[in-house]
Parts: sequence; structure tokens; C-alpha cells
Amino acid sequence: MKKLLPTSTAGSLPKPSWLAQPETLWSPWKLQDQVLVDGKQDALRLCLNDQQQAGIDIVSDGEQTRQHFVTTFIEHLDGVDFTQRETVKIRNRYEASVPTVVGPVSRPRPVFVEDAKFLRQQTDRPIKWALPGPMTMIDTLYDNHYKSREKLAWEFAKILNEEARELEAAGVDIIQFDEPAFNVFFDDVNDWGIAALERAIEGLTCETAVHICYGYGIKANTDWKKTLGSEWRQYEEIFPKLQRSNIDIISLECQNSRVPIELLALIRGKKVMVGAIDVATHEVETPEAVAATLRKALQYVDADKLYPCTNCGMIPLPRRVAQGKLEALSAGAAIVRQELLAK
Ligand SMILES: [Zn+2]
Repeated sequence: MKKLLPTSTAGSLPKPSWLAQPETLWSPWKLQDQVLVDGKQDALRLCLNDQQQAGIDIVSDGEQTRQHFVTTFIEHLDGVDFTQRETVKIRNRYEASVPTVVGPVSRPRPVFVEDAKFLRQQTDRPIKWALPGPMTMIDTLYDNHYKSREKLAWEFAKILNEEARELEAAGVDIIQFDEPAFNVFFDDVNDWGIAALERAIEGLTCETAVHICYGYGIKANTDWKKTLGSEWRQYEEIFPKLQRSNIDIISLECQNSRVPIELLALIRGKKVMVGAIDVATHEVETPEAVAATLRKALQYVDADKLYPCTNCGMIPLPRRVAQGKLEALSAGAAIVRQELLAK
């Protein structure tokens, strides 16, 4: 990106109420068959338009064509039985009934490539596409085949790499892997999580990102955050190894979070998508509050490597709130951009 402080979003954006139940994770679709296919494309166009109207520089599909950032990808794979369900604890935080890995996993056909081509046709701006990361994928499944978290993650990394290469060929500029699980399983991240991520980006020439966060603004996550104390130092465990990895961009949560900003020094040299919008509140940030967060991050991130962003996805938020937050992000970034250019 030539533009200083290009803005983007971490992931999901609210869906229109005619497509899915608003403010709801895993909301069922309200349309069916070809009408659903067309409706998803219409929603993608609206979502793109909202981002562009708000002045977002690196745009995305806002995950309009998927029900959930992890599940939808897995639904397209062979080897996972969605009718055979077990209860597991996701990210050591909440119990969920999850599908079972019953045999070798594979990707019989592309998952999001047609959607990415459609987005590419609609805009000249750089586009970012999010995929789940290998570790976060295995954390939402019961494995009755490989019986090894590492082995299953490695198989998923190979599958993600196939998808990522096709997304790159479809014209995606940045491929992002969502790894909220990186904030929980530190030993695994350092032992094999980052290696699996590097396997997923093997051979790519587009930019690559990893999004780590404290999750959507849902109750299970806000309750968990209350147990983390006055300083959230989770990133500290994994930043040194991420800093040495081949990933280009690290996306993380900085707004209203108790992450000590000086932890960013541990990833010096990387591009950083700095979360300057809180997704756990309906209160829309002022541009000045966004600017204040970006200025703090600038103490540790070079200006040409700082990408203002949201803390996480915004699917649980009302549409008008999310739109207000996108506008605040743009306006806040504009304040700091002017300050930098005036120097
Ligand atoms: Zn997130």
C-alpha cells in the first residue's frame, strides 16, 4: 500500500436482516437455493459499498457468504461428519457441540474462490480475504481419526494452502488467517502452531496476515476477559516466534483492551493491523479516540507498517453501529495521517 495508514477491518461485518438474523452468530439463512446464492452476492455488494462509503482502503467481503468464520470452511471439506457430534470446550472457554473428524480430511473443491472472484470484479481497491487458521480449525472439532492436534493442524494447513493459492490467483491482495486460538494455547503455538501457519502460506506471493484477538464481543468472551486481570500479556508468549515467522502482517486488538501497548515492540519489523475499534460495545468511538490508539501504536510500529483496523469481526453488532465504527476508523486514521504528513 502506498497510502499511509490504510484502513481495513478484521473480518465479519453485519449481514442485512433479509439475509440472516441480525446480531447473531451462526444465524440461519433466511433464503434458499438460487435465491440464497443471489442474496449473498447482493449482501456482499452492499457490504462492499458500505466499506467504500466509510472510506475503508483495504476492503473485504465482510464474510457475507458464510455463516461462521470457521464452520463454513470446514463444511466444505471431506473427512468431517457434521451429523456425528461431540461436546468439547472451545478455546478452554465455552462448551459446544462440534462435528467429528472421521477420516482423512481433504478439500474436494474450492470453498471461497468464486466469492473472491466476484468481490474482485466489484472493486479496484486492494482486497483482503479471511480464512480460519489451522489451530483454530482443530479447536472446533472432535478428532476421532488422527488423534493428534498437531497432525490434524498440519493436514488443514495443506488444505488451506490449496485454497489460498487459488484465492491469490483470483486477485486477492492479502490473505488473512484467523487464529484466536493463538491467544490460548501458547505452548502449542510455539511448538507447531506457527509452523502450521507457515505451511498454509507456502509459495504465496500476495501478502499474508494472521489475526489474533480476544474474540467477538459475546458474553463468553467478555466473561473470560474479566478473568485476565489488569494487564493482558497473552500476546507476549507468542510474539517473539511470530516476529521471526514468514507472516507479513499481524492483526491484533488494541482498542479498550488491557494489552500493554509496549508488547508491540516484540513484533517490530512486521506490519501491524492495529485494532482501534472495540467490537464489544455499541458505543461508537470518536475519531479522536481512534487517533489516540494509533498514536500509541506508532511508538512501536513504523508509520509505513501501521494498518488501522477493527479489534475483531463485527457480525454481532447492529448494522448502524458497525457503519458508525467504520466511519470513526477512517476519520481517526485521517487525523493521524495528516499529523504524519505535516512532519
Ligand atoms: Zn478476532
